[in-house]
Amino acid sequence: MVFRKAAVIGVGLIGGSFGLALKAAGLCGRVVGAGRSAANLELAVSRGAIDAFEATAAAAVRDADLVLVASPVAQFETIFLEIGPVLGSDALVMDAGSTKRDVVAAARKGLGSRIARFVPAHPIAGAENSGAGAATAELFRDRRLVLTPLDENSARDVDAAAGLWSALGARVSRMSPEEHDAVFAAVSHLPHLLAYALVGDIAARSNAAQLFGYAAGGFRDFTRIASSHPEMWRDICLANADRLLQELSAYQKKLREVGGLLETKDAAALEKLFADARAARQKWLDGGWLNGESG
Ligand code: NAD
Repeated sequence: MVFRKAAVIGVGLIGGSFGLALKAAGLCGRVVGAGRSAANLELAVSRGAIDAFEATAAAAVRDADLVLVASPVAQFETIFLEIGPVLGSDALVMDAGSTKRDVVAAARKGLGSRIARFVPAHPIAGAENSGAGAATAELFRDRRLVLTPLDENSARDVDAAAGLWSALGARVSRMSPEEHDAVFAAVSHLPHLLAYALVGDIAARSNAAQLFGYAAGGFRDFTRIASSHPEMWRDICLANADRLLQELSAYQKKLREVGGLLETKDAAALEKLFADARAARQKWLDGGWLNGESG
């Protein structure tokens, strides 16, 4: 499986890492990018993530037999509408978006009859850094990758997508777009929202300097992901707002329960909650939950 020409639309952390990983694995003759910032695209060329870039997404995908859309998710509809009419019939199209129901809807709208060759993908391989400068060839190694195949996809294309990501080192699993958005609302989108909200709340207080002055490891660990790209997370939270709101209310309910334990000074229940959470987290760190791995 070697591609002639890959087009990467949005050459940031994920798109740039995809280009570097493709080349490191010898899977592609030429990688061409398109994006919003010339400076970032030039950096991507100098780092070897892409060989060249074009002024438009449509120009980049011309003659490509592999396309990855890796911009923030609110851009997808415009990009699909632009590339749909010029995609070659041999082009396998994928995305790297962190949400899937909206991305699939955007692809149906923009790609029209080409939808059958679009295999949605989400590499669970991020970081709080962004841009081509943060890209690495190893980003996807030993990380999970979720495919949310469509009814229109051929088994051959889904297998090709899975084979490609596996060749870049990822552990591929499959689920529906609905299940994907429910799962990631709970374990990714909610934690990001909480981290941003906590930092925002502390920063808005009149004694913020004092509070940040004394903040240490716990605050740093809890809020690391509030250093993530604001536009990207705005788009993710809005695209998955219904699922995220459900998770937010479940969490608010839990917080009220915990608040109740503090009010009643229920030391035993509080300690049990902490001990159970610590054990569940340790089991996760040890890979003990993987028996429930799907796909
Ligand atoms: P990034 O900010 O590093 O890169 C995004 C790139 O897209 C930027 O270079 C930007 O200039 C470009 N871009 C923006 N609008 C565009 C447009 N209309 N056309 C072409 N290019 C455009 O972000 P990233 O972390 O690489 O994320 C990219 C995608 O991958 C997002 O959809 C995100 O949800 C998804 N994702 C991110 C992570 C993560 O943790 N960073 C993990 C998995 C998936």
